[in-house]
Amino acid sequence: MTLIVFDLDFTLWDAGGTWCDHTRPPFGKHDGKIYDADNRHIRLYPDVLPLLEELHRSDYDMAVASKTGEPDWARTLLELFQIRHYFRYEEIYPANKVRHFRRLAAASGVEFEHMLFFDDEYPNIRDVGALGVHAVHIRNGITRHIVMTALDNFAI
Ligand SMILES: [Mg+2]
Repeated sequence: MTLIVFDLDFTLWDAGGTWCDHTRPPFGKHDGKIYDADNRHIRLYPDVLPLLEELHRSDYDMAVASKTGEPDWARTLLELFQIRHYFRYEEIYPANKVRHFRRLAAASGVEFEHMLFFDDEYPNIRDVGALGVHAVHIRNGITRHIVMTALDNFAI
């Protein structure tokens, strides 16, 4: 079994040029777009919706690992973007991500060697990679190409 794990800020979404815990709720939806109280446009990267749907249809288990300081805000955004149901596991709280992955392993029964992780912050890649997780550094938001290439490369 394989578990595909995503960071949130600057991996799945761009919270108006900042991290979601630097925005100002309440969040609102206008013309299908999500804004915070300061009119920051919070958006998913373009491939995210079709990618999550494709991975879901391919029966991959997926999880979120976020160390945001405002877990409730992140969960609200997952709901507003209507993507929360794609993730079988959520680990959202401030801590070194090694902790998130230990919990994911315990909850899922998936070994680190069978996990694939995408995150924009290199220290998370380094720390989680040291567990044996296949960790991929994201520079300009997730893309379908990055995920599919990683799945091919690791053949997991
Ligand atoms: Mg991030």
